[in-house]
Amino acid sequence: MISKILIANRGEIALRVLRACKELGIATVAVHSTADADAMHVRLADESVCIGPPPSRESYLNIHQIVAACEITGADAVHPGYGFLSENAKFADILDAHGITFIGPTADHIRIMGDKITAKKTAESLGIPVVPGSDGEVKPENALEVARKIGFPVLIKATAGGGGRGMKVARTEEELEEAVSTARAEALAAFGNDAVYMEKYLGKPRHIEIQVVGDGEGNAIHLGERDCSLQRRHQKVWEEANSPALSVEQRMAIGKVCADAMKKLKYRGAGTIEFLYENGEFYFIEMNTRLQVEHPITEAITGIDLVHEQIRVASGGGLSVTQDEISFHGHAIECRINAEDPRTFVPSPGTITHFHAPGGLGVRVDSGAYQGYRIPPYYDSLIGKLIVHGRTRNECMMRLRRVLDEFVIDGIKTTLPLFQDLISNPDIANGDYDIHWLENYLGGKAN
Ligand code: ADP
Repeated sequence: MISKILIANRGEIALRVLRACKELGIATVAVHSTADADAMHVRLADESVCIGPPPSRESYLNIHQIVAACEITGADAVHPGYGFLSENAKFADILDAHGITFIGPTADHIRIMGDKITAKKTAESLGIPVVPGSDGEVKPENALEVARKIGFPVLIKATAGGGGRGMKVARTEEELEEAVSTARAEALAAFGNDAVYMEKYLGKPRHIEIQVVGDGEGNAIHLGERDCSLQRRHQKVWEEANSPALSVEQRMAIGKVCADAMKKLKYRGAGTIEFLYENGEFYFIEMNTRLQVEHPITEAITGIDLVHEQIRVASGGGLSVTQDEISFHGHAIECRINAEDPRTFVPSPGTITHFHAPGGLGVRVDSGAYQGYRIPPYYDSLIGKLIVHGRTRNECMMRLRRVLDEFVIDGIKTTLPLFQDLISNPDIANGDYDIHWLENYLGGKAN
């Protein structure tokens, strides 16, 4: 059994994990950089350890310091949250070697899914539909042949990809050479690995992802889908569960494909299988072997606490529910509140002079922010998530409109005004959008 969890993260997700630990009666250790000494997760944890100066590399990514913090405090497990070390197989291996439980999948599964070509091949072998594309890595000298076989437009993607970097579209043969060399250069700069592969570029897809949880023994469940099509620079901005585009039958069918695949893999922990969805077809793009930022909308419609499940399966306690016991209720939307200018998206760190979070039925705010909190300039600009649940999508949208009017964050710029705009848009009201919609909308507004 796990008795003390060290949370190797910061911000809203550190607080989120801490809440789950407290509900399970598990002691908590917060770690923090010197820039986060006054953060909410540090204040609320049972113990805290300063692990280094502000830069992530020297603190939240510093494996030695985190393992040392486990030794000092006697933590027997680590929850990595998302980002930072959450998909670092070496970190999982090191914890294992120290007899500390990593709350996540096996290092092998992290490795398989961390390399996009291996991930795609694995997905295909498990019966998951994938985007048509190259067989593996594409070298510049073979690019034209491969692209002709796939058919233009094509997308060049970094094998080691993440965060939309190292990704370039070639619409014609003429554009191909430059797209390949730019993608390779970007991949090398971002990941230290210039390997790229090629996929059919889908014109108007939605981004739909399936939440799965496995116990590592061959049992696995799915918790339906999230629609994360509203993106800016491949970053999700607004997410919904269920997707306005799927029928119940489609949801259960693709969910079953994913759960069956996880059973075959004997996957342990929470994971998300991401697809592009176009003309009724699903195309696997990647699997994230961790908790996602947008997990609360799944929790809202299923009533299942995903961090509780992660901790249960990591400690060998199995899943708390079977597939038959899971039902989906109503509709949920999450808005990511970033400390950014809502028009230019330039980060806006600083001190929050006034903070009032909304409340009422069906409202959840996951945030470590408070009045007087100083947002450090070193990290991601996500300062909170607003999650709203209603019995129907319409009720959820009406509630979101009400809640956005109540939310006050002064002293810094935030993306709240963007959501106030979106909530009044007819396409959003109708759920009629694809992955390019938001960029087009923002581009149109700027002109
Ligand atoms: P990353 O790991 O860098 O985030 P993903 O493979 O998850 O890369 O893709 C990120 C986003 O890029 C997707 O959500 C989608 O918007 C776009 N994308 C990826 N693959 C394709 C494709 N084959 N066709 C069109 N758009 C794509």
